[in-house]
Amino acid sequence: MRAMVLDAAGQPLRATELPEPEPGPGQVALEVVACGVCRTDLHIVDGELSEPKLPLVLGHQIVARVVGRGGRFAPGQRVGVPWLGWTDGDCRYCVSDRENLCDRALFTGYDIDGGYAEHAVADERYCFPLPDSYQDLQVAPLLCAGLIGHRTLRFAGDAERIGIYGFGAAAHIICQVAVHQGRRVFAFTRADDDAAQAFALELGAEWAGDPLGPSPEELDAALVFAPAGELVPVALRAVAKGGSVVCGGIHMSDIPSMPYELLWGERVLRSVANLTRADAEEFLALAPAVPVHTQVEAFRLERANDALARVREGSLRGAAVVVP
Ligand SMILES: [Zn+2]
Ligand SMILES: [Zn+2]
Repeated sequence: MRAMVLDAAGQPLRATELPEPEPGPGQVALEVVACGVCRTDLHIVDGELSEPKLPLVLGHQIVARVVGRGGRFAPGQRVGVPWLGWTDGDCRYCVSDRENLCDRALFTGYDIDGGYAEHAVADERYCFPLPDSYQDLQVAPLLCAGLIGHRTLRFAGDAERIGIYGFGAAAHIICQVAVHQGRRVFAFTRADDDAAQAFALELGAEWAGDPLGPSPEELDAALVFAPAGELVPVALRAVAKGGSVVCGGIHMSDIPSMPYELLWGERVLRSVANLTRADAEEFLALAPAVPVHTQVEAFRLERANDALARVREGSLRGAAVVVP
């Protein structure tokens, strides 16, 4: 099968032919129809997440058709495969409904080969039926940008005034969910990024502008999707007493030293790690009800490096998806 492979951090992905993977016990064989590109993929390529299996097929927003017998899935059924690929089920985190924190978790497109290929295999317990109202390309970004983004929003509690820092794939989905829930959204993008600001306003944000300028209003919560640690004190400064700053990414540049007064007033600073299967079920039911409309740019599999470059530039409108 055709695949794009990471041989070592810091190198571009290499187009190659690999043997079609054979499903092991409990796994389903999948024919990949699309795979979303995530900022996390870039962190793996850049060596910021330092322990991937190598060589590695990236990609953890896999839209695929089940080939042959597929456990609880019918042959040909469309399923999604997210980042969480396996957990042990018996560590202290798993037994307390926090499988996202499992000590032995395996992640798709990091510990397990992912979806930048024509075929993949996955543990059927971590695959999900996808809502019929979405086309293959459009449903892909729901699988990480959507469901980890939604977990991030959930940690904002019932906050009314939400600041979103960084307006990429996750933000373009979560902005729609937040507006649907009756919240007010303020989008903070790079000062000169007129396209991202216009995009945020189209999706229902009531204001879009520069994070380094004053916030137009005090915020009740801030969601930081940009992997830029310097935004953490900026966001803390913008939230009201009792408000939360929730960091939605897996990696961030260092957070600068800051005065305690930014955290004082019972402000909360927290991260979001991975997802649970319950998160996936909840969000894949919610997205078509909103309904969330995703915007995608498609890249042929062999152009996966171009897709990653566009994520790095921040020049996409919505999400990138590779198509084998
Ligand atoms: Zn566990
Ligand atoms: Zn992701």
